[in-house]
Amino acid sequence: MLQLFYILLCVILSGWDCAWANSPKVLVVHSYAQGYPWTKSQMEGIQTSFDKFYPDTELFIEYLDWKNYPYQKNFQLQYDEINYKYKDKGIELVIVTDNVALDLMINLRPQLFPRAPIVFSGINNYLETRAKDEPNIGGITETLDYESTIRMMLDLHPETKDIALILDSTEISRDLLSEFKQVLPKFQNQVKFKILHDMAMPDILREIKNLPEHALLLCSNFSIDKDGRIYTQRQALRMFTAPGHPPAYGLWEVQLGHGIIGGSLLDARLHGQVAAELGIKALSGEKIPVIQNSLTNLAFDYNQLKRFNIPLDRLPKKAFIKNLPESIFRKYKTEIIFILLVIGILIIMNVYLIANIRKRHIAELERDRLLVEEKKARHSAEEAVKAREMFISLAAHEFRTPLTVLTLQLQLLLRIIKGETKRPSGQEEIAEALQRAGTQTKRLDSLIEDLIYVAHTSSGEVKLNLQQTDLTPIINKLHFFFQPTLTIARSELNVHIEGNTVGNWDKEKIEKLIENLLSNAIKFGNHKPIDLFIKSDNDGVLIKVKDQGIGIYKEDRAHIFEKFGRAVSELNFGGFGLGLYIAQLIAEAHRGYIKVESEPGVGSVFIVFLPYQP
Ligand code: ADP
Repeated sequence: MLQLFYILLCVILSGWDCAWANSPKVLVVHSYAQGYPWTKSQMEGIQTSFDKFYPDTELFIEYLDWKNYPYQKNFQLQYDEINYKYKDKGIELVIVTDNVALDLMINLRPQLFPRAPIVFSGINNYLETRAKDEPNIGGITETLDYESTIRMMLDLHPETKDIALILDSTEISRDLLSEFKQVLPKFQNQVKFKILHDMAMPDILREIKNLPEHALLLCSNFSIDKDGRIYTQRQALRMFTAPGHPPAYGLWEVQLGHGIIGGSLLDARLHGQVAAELGIKALSGEKIPVIQNSLTNLAFDYNQLKRFNIPLDRLPKKAFIKNLPESIFRKYKTEIIFILLVIGILIIMNVYLIANIRKRHIAELERDRLLVEEKKARHSAEEAVKAREMFISLAAHEFRTPLTVLTLQLQLLLRIIKGETKRPSGQEEIAEALQRAGTQTKRLDSLIEDLIYVAHTSSGEVKLNLQQTDLTPIINKLHFFFQPTLTIARSELNVHIEGNTVGNWDKEKIEKLIENLLSNAIKFGNHKPIDLFIKSDNDGVLIKVKDQGIGIYKEDRAHIFEKFGRAVSELNFGGFGLGLYIAQLIAEAHRGYIKVESEPGVGSVFIVFLPYQP
């Protein structure tokens, strides 16, 4: 609240046009010595305000050193000296800190500078001073914040039952004690207070040692003990807060860093600043108010917090912490934030780049895939064209041979009928010509049948008409059918049947399969005998067609089962290269298989397995 008041004051003053044409002469009189921390800080505050709002001010500064010389004699000497020094100076404003200086200047004002306003800072017990009856005097009192400090002590040490307040033997301490007593009733049921006032230092220290467990100290004003021994604030605090003593709290910001843990501490500098600013207002003729609130800050000493194991998170949020070790982060905050920012930007850029590279990589993979597919499509299109061309040339060759023979036989028959032959032909020649013509017709028929079959099964899928099928009659039929061809080929077929030959098969397709194998054995059998074995086992039937013909090279064995796959030249052996392809389709449609064992020049064995139940 007071801070707010102070800020408002600053704002008003900063926009304020100074009314004086000349540099005003201001006398600052301090009750204590120049080096006394409370006085020193107040002076710094006064100087800051004048530097900021009215730098031309001519400042005269006096120190009464009342802590060291608290005697009437000193008062008289100072009275004479100031009277002597400033009689004709034309002082326009007097600022005093603490009570003695206020007293002295009230005495001196009538003869030295009767019209000069007096602004005070750090006055105890204002209502008991002469200032309240004097005109043109105002300022800021020194009101200690006992209440907030004690509340905070109890918050941080909830187990506390006793608090000892230490005060010296000065008059001011008597005033401070009476202020303290006004606060006491608020804590009556919570805690017991022990007041160590107007005592000799050894007695105070003994009392401190004898305090019960969990007691706390509250160090108020201390400069002279009962025996008249003088202590600086720091010396006294060092003794009160010696090792083994209870945790100590204070009331002035100047005590911080000298053994106290902290407190709601009076800010001497702020007092000086506010007093000077009130003085500047008084110079312009404004009435000086009397501010009786405490100008305090919640402040702590990190070293003492650590000493008594008080964690930082137990402190009020707005608390100032002195001696807080500078963390690397706090020290290099700007640099670290900058580096983090740069790293952040780099990470974002990297993620973006990686995403881009990934995208490109995926696009490249897709492009490669399309290229491969396109290549494949082109390859198969080329293959298809090649196959078609090969097929056309094969077909032309395959169909022409039997057609030529057939035409010749028909021409021969015509000549026989017309009697144009050189010698008369009998029934025998006619029958032979007709038989040869019939053979060629059969061959043509077989070729066309293969083509139709392949055309029907272009997808490679064979539809089966499964029925109980016996292989023996099929073999007999084929044996009979191939007899003329075998005769022409000067070969013979030996059939060996063993065991069960009945299964659930497609009769016509099985017949076609065996027919293809037998016709190949005759074609490539080198006029040697051919063996057909039918052998049954538990799961199905094995059909073997064995010849002693030209055989097949190892590298050709795999592709003779492909569509149009051949291992011989069409100049030597006719055929479309479809017989084995069809045989394999049929075997696999029955969940069986076909394979070949062969040796070039020795012969081949084609083996087919057909399960009884496909
Ligand atoms: P085609 O007999 O009409 O050429 P196939 O599909 O029946 O077609 O046979 C493919 C190829 O397999 C034949 O061209 C031939 O090279 C080889 N082949 C098939 N059966 C035999 C066999 N018994 N002996 C040697 N080679 C064979």
